[in-house]
Formats: sequence, C-alpha cells, structure tokens
Amino acid sequence: RLCPPSPLSRELRLHDVFIAVKTTRAFHRSRLELLLDTWVSRTREQVTRSHLVVTNCSAEHSHPALSCKMAAEFDTFLASRLRWFCHVDDDNYVNPRALLKLLKAFPQTRDVYVGRPSLNRPIRASEPRPHNRTRLVQFWFATGGAGFCINRELALKMAPWASGSRFVETSALIRLPDDCTVGYIVECKLGGRLQPSPLFHSHLETLQLLGASQLPEQVTLSYGVFEGKLNVIKLQGPFSPEEDPSRFRSLHCLLYPDTPWCPQLMAR
Ligand code: UDP
Ligand code: MN
Repeated sequence: RLCPPSPLSRELRLHDVFIAVKTTRAFHRSRLELLLDTWVSRTREQVTRSHLVVTNCSAEHSHPALSCKMAAEFDTFLASRLRWFCHVDDDNYVNPRALLKLLKAFPQTRDVYVGRPSLNRPIRASEPRPHNRTRLVQFWFATGGAGFCINRELALKMAPWASGSRFVETSALIRLPDDCTVGYIVECKLGGRLQPSPLFHSHLETLQLLGASQLPEQVTLSYGVFEGKLNVIKLQGPFSPEEDPSRFRSLHCLLYPDTPWCPQLMAR
C-alpha cells in the first residue's frame, strides 16, 4: 500500500489500554492501597491516583448505583483516545503483560468483547417493546468481577445504549446489573458475541484450582470470601497468609522480583 501506516496499525502498547477500576470510598483503604502497591504501580499511565474519577453515583451495592459507575468508566474511556477499554473491580489483580499479550492477538479490524462468561449458558431477559409487549432475549455476558475488555471500534457502536445517561437507562430497561447490560448491548443490540477467555478470574470460582505455574499467564485474578472461607490463589510465598491474605503481594513479587519491598534473593 502506498499510504503511510496509520497509527492504528502499529503494535499495541500498554499505553493504548484504558483500565478502569471500580471502587467505593469504603474500600479505598482496605482494597485500593493493595492495588496501588502492586499491579497499579506497573501501569502508572493506565490507572493512577491522578485519574481518579469521583462519580456522583450513590455509594451502594445496588444495580443502578453500580451501573452508574460503569457508565462513568465507559464515558471516561470514550473521552480518552485509547484503543481498549478494560474494566476491573477493586479486588482484581491485573497482570499487564498477560493483558497486552491477549489484546495483541485480536485482529485490529474486528469488534472485540472479551472476558469470562458468567454462566455456562446465555442469560435470559425480557426486553420491553412498544404497546406494552415484551420480547424474550438471550445473551452471553462477561462477569464484571473477573474483568473484561472491549475495543474502541465496538465501544463506539455501543454508545447509543451506553454513553451518558443511557447505560443506566438500558440497565433499568432489562432490570439486570451492569455487567449483564454490557453483554446485552453487545449481543442483542449490535449482534456481536462475547469472546470467552479463561484467563480472567473472579472470586466466584475456586481460585485454589489454578496451578502456581499457570499464575503468570492469567490476565486477572481475584480474592474474596466464599461460604465463610477465604477464596484466594494458592501461592507459597514470599509472604505468609497472615501478612498477605489476598496473596496479591506474593504474586506481585513473583511477577516483578525487582520491586523494592519484595524480599531480594541472595546473589549466588
Ligand atoms: N462497589 C461499589 N459500591 C458499593 C459496593 C461495591 O462501587 O457500594 C464496587 C466494589 O468496589 C467492587 C465492586 O463494586 O469494585 C464489587 O463489589 P464487591 O467485590 O464488594 O462485591 P461482589 O459483587 O464481588 O460480591
Ligand atoms: Mn468482589
């Protein structure tokens, strides 16, 4: 081709990826500090304190409040000029290298919505139609608590249902949470498909099942309490479960041994 390569055709870098971390004031101490000390410190450009967006969303764990935050994440991404939108929760560890490897593998011209399917079948919703009718719709969606990514091409097409106040309206229409609403817009409004990836993880799955050698390849990890027990990844050290209950600090030292607060291995 004679035309110069467009900026779109150059290789994807982490600088091209927008990572939104959903959080709430009550978790700034208990959850956000851990992220700032670990993976966020390696993605300063993508997520930093200076990029904190304080929403007017109510501080509750309700569908409208959480959809309001997803809308703020989406709009902030649209306003950026970045190529990928990734959403995670404040109990996710993001491995930037694994994320970049995953996103790089997608052809640039396609619409992409990638994440871990929440269920092993499509979810059903009833979509209100004119004249008091409803239509039963089915679609796949990625668990918000495991993180998911959408490329700019697809995000722009989603805008009529997802930008500004419309995301909350769409979510209210189908009466489902924010992550379901994303799936609904992609699959039912745009005819797209969720691209399933096993590399995203929430604390809804048994995290112990991941082998230590698999950990560096995972795009996201999580921790949480399930049925009264701590659900965390299995990792020997260097920190004890008491010092590092989430195991994120230990994982971070495995991935980035040069981190100042990681125990330095003796020179041999
Ligand atoms: N969250 C929020 N407002 C709330 C409660 C939770 O924004 O009032 C966020 C929280 O910071 C996290 C996500 O919603 O990013 C999911 O919350 P949590 O992990 O506590 O619950 P889960 O749905 O995973 O059980
Ligand atoms: Mn959670």
